[in-house]
Amino acid sequence: MTTPDPELSALLHESRQFDPPAELAAHANAQPDVYQRAKEDRLGFWADQARRLTWDREWDDVLQWELPYAKWFVGGTLNAAVNCVDRHVDAGNGDRVAFHWVGEPEDDTRAITYRQLKDDVCRAANALTDLGVRAGDRVAIYMPMIPETVVAMLACARLGAPHTVVFAGYSADALKTRIIDCDAHVVITADGSWRKGSINPLKPAVDEAVSECPDVRSVLVVRRTEQDVDWTDGRDVWWHDVVDSASPEHVAEMFDAEHPLYVMYTSGTTGKPKGVLHTTGGYLTHVSATCRLIFDMKPETDVFWTAADIGWVTGHSYIVYGPLANGVTSVMYEGAPDAGGKDRWWKIIEDYKVTILYTAPTTIRTFMKWGEEYPRAHDLSSLRILGSVGEPINPEAWIWYRKNIGGNKTAVVDTWWQTENGGVLITPLPGITRTKPGAAMQPFPGISADVVNNEGRAVANGEAGFVVITEPWPGMLRGIWGDDERYKKTYWSKFEGVYFAGDGAKKDEDGDFWLLGRVDDVMNVSGHRISTTEVESALVSHPSVAEAAVVGASDAVTGQGIVAFVSIKAGVDEEGDAGAALVDDLRATVARQIGKIARPRQILLTPELPKTRSGKIMRRLLLDVAEHRELGDVTTLADSSVVSAIADQMEAST
Ligand code: ATP
Ligand code: MG
Repeated sequence: MTTPDPELSALLHESRQFDPPAELAAHANAQPDVYQRAKEDRLGFWADQARRLTWDREWDDVLQWELPYAKWFVGGTLNAAVNCVDRHVDAGNGDRVAFHWVGEPEDDTRAITYRQLKDDVCRAANALTDLGVRAGDRVAIYMPMIPETVVAMLACARLGAPHTVVFAGYSADALKTRIIDCDAHVVITADGSWRKGSINPLKPAVDEAVSECPDVRSVLVVRRTEQDVDWTDGRDVWWHDVVDSASPEHVAEMFDAEHPLYVMYTSGTTGKPKGVLHTTGGYLTHVSATCRLIFDMKPETDVFWTAADIGWVTGHSYIVYGPLANGVTSVMYEGAPDAGGKDRWWKIIEDYKVTILYTAPTTIRTFMKWGEEYPRAHDLSSLRILGSVGEPINPEAWIWYRKNIGGNKTAVVDTWWQTENGGVLITPLPGITRTKPGAAMQPFPGISADVVNNEGRAVANGEAGFVVITEPWPGMLRGIWGDDERYKKTYWSKFEGVYFAGDGAKKDEDGDFWLLGRVDDVMNVSGHRISTTEVESALVSHPSVAEAAVVGASDAVTGQGIVAFVSIKAGVDEEGDAGAALVDDLRATVARQIGKIARPRQILLTPELPKTRSGKIMRRLLLDVAEHRELGDVTTLADSSVVSAIADQMEAST
């Protein structure tokens, strides 16, 4: 593993800066002394955050740390579902909308208040109890983006039964592996989900998966798309039969702060999925504090929208647990970004007066590709904060987002974190930070992160290295389900005593963090270490480019040669001479911004880039293409035809 060469850095030449919006700064939940407070008394800071939750019994110790095992809020007891719903109803806010749910078919919408959510969660908890679910049992959830998914998760949490939500785009086989890995005996699903006007059948996938899981005794099925489904009597039950008729009264048991809340399998960009275990008190503290301080949530006035799938950790922390712990109103959208038109999102923001939007760079770049006319057709003036997560955001995408979605006035927060982290770790605070496009800026208050060299020593400002977290944090994973050795080896063996994230970063002259992607994605060209993110950002800065992925293909002369896959914006001419001229121009752009050494050996203009189901560019497969190899494992791809088309194009070009 190598770290990028600081001399060859386009990102360090990015000098634009943006002050926090004055209005936001004046009333922000996080005021500038928050960093100092957390620095002086880190555990005291986290205890203050934890006290914003409702505990049945307060903890004896904030933290017990025996490397690499942390226990937070030791001896405290609470119930996650009570914190997300009951207490808001008890506080007199039962009529507040918890979710404005927007179905994919137009006009299929529902508003669910906190009181309704509480009743539904209690009903589902009673129904699951009747199905034999007890505290500690794992329950698999394979569902569309519908309110019942949130209800199912919270019902499990209420019972102390850890859920494992499997993204509904995964195959029967992927579902089966996860059910078996965490030994779930109950599966909650739906007949199907809507995807661009057609039905994505879910129940058949569950039937197929469960046929090889002898320990699954019940399958609870929500009716959503209403096509006929096969039915196994004695195993399958309709949600509307057992949940709707159940009692809305349910006395919640209180659980230890370290009681397991859920297992989430990572998206699998790099290999076999890991079952990341999160527990209750620390996790809830972390997600609720980050919502309040990063997204500046004001439950009385904000409408928050995390446009991600609940099947990813972003959905768990920032659609479900974090916003609900804060008692805020959220939007939840079922469908594809272009279902009903390429302006669907902007229509939703206009209709519901969304104030905070949180999404991924991959989606932002897709919108860049489609063009500015779609957001321009809508009133987006309600927005005050825009968030980004999931991949490094290229400076040009950041600027595009702030300008075309944020009306040149919103704060933009680029939040770095991982499934393993539970919640955001490195981020600006919107009322405090002077932001830099493309930089995640600083560790969140109470988080100790650094960038270190190969020997594990902190790098100086202006240098690059590996991201490490040097102190335990409340939302950290408590292990990998059933694989303790992998837990220790993956995160705690590279450097002594600190968490190894597997990502590279650069600290600029001010000590601010610029994330550079996975360390496995660093290339070595004639002895120069160049990060894929840097070259991609240089390419995306070209006005014709929407998205780019680069890989270091083995090269007899230079060790590795850079091969770039570039997808261009709608309306740009790429035929014949125009395409050749564009390629020349792109190589010149990279040479200018980074150096001649970083000029791609080859540039392929491609309509799409291969992505995982969570929307991340899959460089591993592009490397196979660039090196003319058989494609590796394609099962985590969203659409495997994309990469085969690129492979054909590559063969035709050489
Ligand atoms: P796997 O670990 O199974 O390969 P994954 O790492 O893609 O899957 P996630 O936990 O969803 O699964 O993603 C975390 C990774 O996403 C980070 O390690 C980092 O590489 C990237 N990432 C997330 N947010 C940011 C960000 N704001 N800036 C840069 N990179 C980010
Ligand atoms: Mg990862």
